[in-house]
Amino acid sequence: MSAEKIQKIARRYALQNAVQFDGKANGKAVVGKVIASLKKENISPKEIIPVVTIVVKEVNCLPLEKQVLELEQTAPELLHKEKKERDFSLPKLSHAERGKVVTRFPPEPNGYLHIGHAKAAIVDYEYAQMYDGKFILRFDDTNPEHAEIEFYNVQKEDLRWLGIKWDKEYHTSDNLKTHYKLAEQLIRQGGAYICTCTPEAIKEGRFHSKECSCRKRRSGETLDLWKELLSSGELKGAILRLCGDMKSANTAMRDPTLFRVIDKEHPLQGDKYRVWPTYDFAGAVEDSISGVTHPFRTKEYELRDPVYYHILELLNLRKPYLMEFSRLAIEGMPVSKRKIKPLIEKGLVSGYDDIRLPTLRGLKKRGIVPEAIKQFVFSQGISKVESTVDFSIVEAFNRKILDPLVKRYFFVADPVELTVKDAPKRKTKLKLHPTKDMGERSIETDSVFFVQKEDMQNMKTGDIFRLKGLYNVEIQNIGDEVSGVYEGEELLSDIAKIQWTTKDHVEMKISVPGPLFNKDVYNQKSLAELYGYAEKAVADIPDGEIIQFERVGFVRIEKQKTKLIGYFAHK
Ligand code: ATP
Ligand code: MG
Repeated sequence: MSAEKIQKIARRYALQNAVQFDGKANGKAVVGKVIASLKKENISPKEIIPVVTIVVKEVNCLPLEKQVLELEQTAPELLHKEKKERDFSLPKLSHAERGKVVTRFPPEPNGYLHIGHAKAAIVDYEYAQMYDGKFILRFDDTNPEHAEIEFYNVQKEDLRWLGIKWDKEYHTSDNLKTHYKLAEQLIRQGGAYICTCTPEAIKEGRFHSKECSCRKRRSGETLDLWKELLSSGELKGAILRLCGDMKSANTAMRDPTLFRVIDKEHPLQGDKYRVWPTYDFAGAVEDSISGVTHPFRTKEYELRDPVYYHILELLNLRKPYLMEFSRLAIEGMPVSKRKIKPLIEKGLVSGYDDIRLPTLRGLKKRGIVPEAIKQFVFSQGISKVESTVDFSIVEAFNRKILDPLVKRYFFVADPVELTVKDAPKRKTKLKLHPTKDMGERSIETDSVFFVQKEDMQNMKTGDIFRLKGLYNVEIQNIGDEVSGVYEGEELLSDIAKIQWTTKDHVEMKISVPGPLFNKDVYNQKSLAELYGYAEKAVADIPDGEIIQFERVGFVRIEKQKTKLIGYFAHK
């Protein structure tokens, strides 16, 4: 048994293990697999262990993305086998009965949806499906300062793109009259009071656990103030507060705000209302009256759960079963509308569909497909553990989906001209996919080619390489222009096979996204550009199609008038 063979097997298992565990292979696990696989060859662990140790170290130095790529190229069965073994279904819900589960996704129409919203929407939608229940799309548009008319529609478009269908759709702002009625009920019961203190005094009171004198007003008096608040502009700074527990260790319970005045025209309701419910009130009330059984919220709301239940308890409304999961965070990417908006306003990104953003529009533009987002969401599950994940996980799912589906072409980045002496003139047919039947493209070649500068940099006079799909060439001269001589057709295993184009090519720029932030600092170099020549057939690709440029990566093609633009998804 040669050391090379042990090394080859070790490398595959190390890659497989690394891919399974976020890029870090475990030496012991790999040793176990290699020993098992070499059992028949009667080879001792003594021989295996030192080889595996070195291989694991090497593999662990590679980024996850490269590990996935190499495994895909050398042992795709290990990658796919592993993925099949993983269970991506969501765990069962507590208190759930088939046919009776109702979930909802409640976006605020104040921006474009991002991959964090996709997580929430997919989880909500999938649970409704799993239990033959209902899924509601509710626009939580109770802050006219933020809500904008354009966002209602774009959010729906993006959800449809994800493949999400809803059974019912409505706006919380349509129910404001009901909210007012419930507020009045709460006041009559002595469960809420109008507070006219200054914001500073309220903050101070909450900090020192001290009730303010407003809370002591009789409910009749509070009711008058409430009506005044609704009808006139007199009581400007006043708010309606819940009679919570100012002594509670949970500061969220210290008489939270239920309603406040926002003097701004609402995109749907116009100037009909000026007193708007807070998320605490509107969220609890809407979940309950719309029949939601399992509302999901992100973990930062956990402390507000007692507020939610207290409001419903006082109003004698049905209590849904609140569930929480962690907020999705991705390394180097702003997964929050609040963080994305200023980037657009400052012109640091080109818009909501900038390919560096985790917005669904940005992801779509660079060629991330909805199914990959879905698989990624399932792989993350609904744990409450906060973590920042690497975007390469999304890329790995996307790659696995696209690899057998998309056509492959040649792209020569940073091209140099290559003249081949004695080159046979011919019309070559090249397969559009190595294993799937996707047809061919034909290319006419003569003696002039363009090849990648980088490929030529390591060559010297006398070296032989293969123009992929054509024939071998021996280098005669290397410089700004390269020349070589035709060296026959024989397939040689140990020579470089390089991509090429002919004079008949299309010029192209590919935008390549990088991380927008390095440790919270805006990355000036987050957008790179790859310039080069694509083979002619690329010009006929329909606008919006995703293809793979061999050795470059997956690219989504856009046609802008006569220009071809590429957006780089990943390797
Ligand atoms: P943002 O900062 O992006 O505005 P948000 O929570 O205020 O976040 P909403 O439109 O109110 O945005 O969110 C709608 C739903 O999406 C909520 O249930 C929210 O919890 C969920 N959500 C938003 N961002 C994320 C995220 N990063 N990860 C998981 N769920 C999220
Ligand atoms: Mg919000």
